[in-house]
Amino acid sequence: MKKMILIVDDCDTTRKLLSYIIKERGYKTVDASNGIDALEKLAINQVDLVITDLNMPQMDGYELSRSLRQNVSYREIPIIMVSTESGETDMKKGLEAGVTRYLVKPVSPQKLLYEIEKAL
Ligand SMILES: [Mg+2]
Repeated sequence: MKKMILIVDDCDTTRKLLSYIIKERGYKTVDASNGIDALEKLAINQVDLVITDLNMPQMDGYELSRSLRQNVSYREIPIIMVSTESGETDMKKGLEAGVTRYLVKPVSPQKLLYEIEKAL
């Protein structure tokens, strides 16, 4: 069965681009525009991996990651954070929040697909 990847980003264009790249590789995708939206999508989809932006309105990537790690049903889902923040503190915060892999934008399609395959 095709693996399902949840793409979380408040930028429409980014979501579309990521979704295109990921679907081309043979995965299924579902989109969310912030953390709250992501939690709603998780409740109704069998998600195998989450790709999340950091800065988003309502619920950001840190909060989303923390809440996934605190939930028994979502604890094991790999989280790849893709952020514009390249600071060491941000990465550290990401890892503390339970992120599996922290990548700094822009990320090439090759790099992203490599990280997805590694994490799955
Ligand atoms: Mg953003």
